Amino acid sequence: MPNEEMKVLVIEDEESFITALKVGLTREGFTVEVQSDGAEALNTFKTFNPDIVLLDLMLPNRSGVDICRDIREIAKTPIIMVTAKSEEIDTVLGLEVGADDYISKPYRLHELIARMRAQLRRANWGDEPVATYQVEKTTIGDITIDPNRHEVFKGDTQITLPLKEFELLLLLMRNAGQVLTRGILIDHIWGVDYYGDMKTLDVHIRRIRAKIETDPSNPKRILTIRGLGYKYADA
Ligand code: CA
Repeated sequence: MPNEEMKVLVIEDEESFITALKVGLTREGFTVEVQSDGAEALNTFKTFNPDIVLLDLMLPNRSGVDICRDIREIAKTPIIMVTAKSEEIDTVLGLEVGADDYISKPYRLHELIARMRAQLRRANWGDEPVATYQVEKTTIGDITIDPNRHEVFKGDTQITLPLKEFELLLLLMRNAGQVLTRGILIDHIWGVDYYGDMKTLDVHIRRIRAKIETDPSNPKRILTIRGLGYKYADA
């Protein structure tokens, strides 16, 4: 997901925000389209067909609240509502306009992007079933993981894993045979609000492999599914 080009529609009339967003979001790999006229927002939405919308509340010719409702009538596209004052969020929330998240100005770009990524992951992977609740131990081949005791064994040898590595291995083993996308793994282990180096996942996988694989450079247990994520071999 993070490598795929995402389209963001910025509905905003303040020149300083438009400029900063264009630069910042483009640098993050987004394709950015801007519409400053509230009355034109829905048309631009239809023609640009964005993956996510940043919607300012106060706009000329049509309010953000009305535009949000317009979009919701035709699409489920994630909408992040931008307000000039944090107090307005309560008002907007009370109107139940159907936005997915709210942020107030001034905001930090990295916080906005974290929220955008969270919404994009939810929109794209939120419906995939993943087994996360577990009480019983799981054994596949000679690897056993026991969430109650927080123990991992390779044969008779106990392996020590830090918490995140343990949770990651548990999630993979509980879903053995299924490809878990990078988005799903990051959401479940680091939380949907995680914004950081996407290489963190790969670093954790590498560390687990070093401990459970016979030959970590030629893994037979945790398999890389190129362009998607990882899969624990079910046999
Ligand atoms: Ca405005």
